[in-house]
Amino acid sequence: MINVKARATFTPEGPFQLTTIERRDLQPHDVLIEIKYAGICHSDIHTARGEWGPVNYPLVPGHEIAGIVTQIGSEVTKYAIGDRVGVGCMVDSCGECVNCHQGEEQFCLEGNTGTYASVDRYGQYTQGGYSTHIVVTEDFVLRIPEAIELDVAAPLLCAGITTYSPLRHWGAAPGKKVAIVGLGGLGHMAVKLAHAMGAEVTVLSQTLKKKEDGLRLGADHYYATSDPETFKSLAGSFDLIVNTVSAKLDLNAFLSLLALDGTLVNVGAPAEPLEVNVFSLIGQRRSFAGSLIGGIRETQEMLDFCAEHNIGPEIEVISANQIDEAWERVLASDVRYRFVIDISTMED
Ligand code: NAP
Ligand code: ZN
Repeated sequence: MINVKARATFTPEGPFQLTTIERRDLQPHDVLIEIKYAGICHSDIHTARGEWGPVNYPLVPGHEIAGIVTQIGSEVTKYAIGDRVGVGCMVDSCGECVNCHQGEEQFCLEGNTGTYASVDRYGQYTQGGYSTHIVVTEDFVLRIPEAIELDVAAPLLCAGITTYSPLRHWGAAPGKKVAIVGLGGLGHMAVKLAHAMGAEVTVLSQTLKKKEDGLRLGADHYYATSDPETFKSLAGSFDLIVNTVSAKLDLNAFLSLLALDGTLVNVGAPAEPLEVNVFSLIGQRRSFAGSLIGGIRETQEMLDFCAEHNIGPEIEVISANQIDEAWERVLASDVRYRFVIDISTMED
């Protein structure tokens, strides 16, 4: 076993503390990554607080990982020492089911192995990126293009792919009207990506506080959902709505904004069920859908797309002893627009 430093929470409410965790010894196809930066995703908070079900403590979250390969297993062919790499929300899957064969490992029929709070094929409880090193099988490692700095790259591994995948799947493109609900970590990436794909982009945020930012990020329009007039004036207008909100919303109000054959995709994952009135769907043949991150091949495609279009998240780099404070700010919707931990401060 390899002992590495990490920041863990020992209870649902925290606080984070410096600790030591074990990574497995390198297997033939494993790479050892020295983590440089780790993004903070709202999913880290849902998970650590037990909102999605029970987890083990201590828990080391973090599934937006960027770093450098420092060691490789005897049969690794894809990566070499010194490569700039990333790891997202999953670190393994069965590799044999129909979904894995299609490159949709996130939908592995055996269940993908989460980067943290999962049990891997070696029987070890996985621990995430709020740590100095991680061991990952090469097939679940992504290559970070030279054009993207490592701190900016980290959030692409979850916030980037989670918004890129549904935008591609449901055809965000010139001539399409796309609305993004919630301008947080995922939402602000969705705005940049949908704009780069050529869609006409509208932000639906709780207030107009971040309007200037939204327009700068690439939105064409910006509305406050706290204003009832928004729902009247935009009724029936969107081909695609991507809902990134981490809390329960009045879904029927948002479904009413879809045009004929429009789709509302939920990527936000609140613990509480959302209520759908079927009449919100049948009147205009609308769809309500969900989407989970993206496969490895598509994640690499997204990274290359971001490099080509010069797109990245707006980040606020923090030190490891500011994680608790950053989580509170995420919960208060006070994030502009992704916190990224500088792992070199791990022991400060
Ligand atoms: P985030 O940075 O906290 O952004 C969420 C945004 O939702 C906030 O910035 C806020 O936007 C809006 N919001 C928050 N509370 C709200 C409320 N009570 N009512 C209305 N709007 C509210 O979170 P994130 O990291 O982007 O993650 C968003 C969600 O996606 C989380 O539930 C997360 O677990 C989930 N997620 C899912 C996947 C997947 O694969 N499907 C992957 C990653 C994350 P405004 O201030 O603009 O209103
Ligand atoms: Zn995430």
